[in-house]
Amino acid sequence: MISVVVPIYNEEELIYRFNEAVAGELKTIGEEWEVIYVNDGSTDSSLELLLDLQTADPHVVVVDLTRNWGHMGAISAGLRSSRGDAVIVMDGDFQDPPEVLPQLINAWRAGAQVVVAVRRSRQERRRLLAKLFPVFYRVLAALSDYPIPLDAGIFGLMDRQAVDSVNALREGNRYLPGLRAWIGYRNDVVYYDRQDRLAGDGKLSFVSRIKYAMDAITSFSYKPLRLCFALSCFLECMVVILVACSLFATNPVDTLGLALSAVILLVGGILLFCLGVMSEYLGRVYDEVRARPLSIINKVYYSEEIVAAQTGAADASEPAAGYRLRIA
Ligand code: UDP
Ligand code: MG
Repeated sequence: MISVVVPIYNEEELIYRFNEAVAGELKTIGEEWEVIYVNDGSTDSSLELLLDLQTADPHVVVVDLTRNWGHMGAISAGLRSSRGDAVIVMDGDFQDPPEVLPQLINAWRAGAQVVVAVRRSRQERRRLLAKLFPVFYRVLAALSDYPIPLDAGIFGLMDRQAVDSVNALREGNRYLPGLRAWIGYRNDVVYYDRQDRLAGDGKLSFVSRIKYAMDAITSFSYKPLRLCFALSCFLECMVVILVACSLFATNPVDTLGLALSAVILLVGGILLFCLGVMSEYLGRVYDEVRARPLSIINKVYYSEEIVAAQTGAADASEPAAGYRLRIA
């Protein structure tokens, strides 16, 4: 079974058209499917429309949240409610085109456990945003301690095991594209052209976008914390230069000025160094609080003998039914 998770916040103009387009693609796949619409505290008629839609289309599952929890909150609820062997996450505004669904599913059938949809191009009315996104992805890639695919948002597919791994994470500030890369598993990439929103305006506020970008950086990088160390080194170098200049200054007023500046920078540098030390501890405290697992097992392979003993096969030399037992 394929699950498609779609966060919905005030999308009344699009819901019917979107479901029709998604169902049109999934019909051709030859698998059972469900489309999970997560109503993220919509204030328009989205919920009523979704429930209406459900009476006409039994593939529709509606998850109604208690209030507006934001894009990531809605997606997390959808992932937790999903039942499929493969779960696709996509936005409900046609920016992630439904035509790409068969490609995602084919990549999964070919053996990928995580399929990431990467933006080859963007058609967007909001020019500034369209320009800022690629910059953000590159800044994130430069800062991240772990490789995260460039130009990829939430759009993509995860198999059941990968979804369970993401669901098991306890951290609150989630950046799904990063976590999806972080969990590992066999990955594949599908390229697509990002479309413009078909109707209505973007629902994410500027402030929530900044928060999302900060989540992305702080979830995957210690580097901003280490900036303190870099700055303190810079200040201490300045101190050395100022002291050298003050020694060679002929005018006593210059000597005094340079020496005083050196003392100020020295103190600043020491403070930054101490902050840097504290940041190292802070980073580790953050790691402990998030309690990410140290590793994730994909499969465990046992020898034939052990499998035979477990399954009670009479002759251990005979390949038992559960040969190469898979523990997920
Ligand atoms: N969305 C949501 N909760 C929110 C904001 C948005 O569930 O608080 C949904 C929205 O309905 C859409 C998807 O998340 O299906 C992406 O939102 P939007 O298109 O506004 O984001 P953008 O594409 O502008 O980044
Ligand atoms: Mg959008």
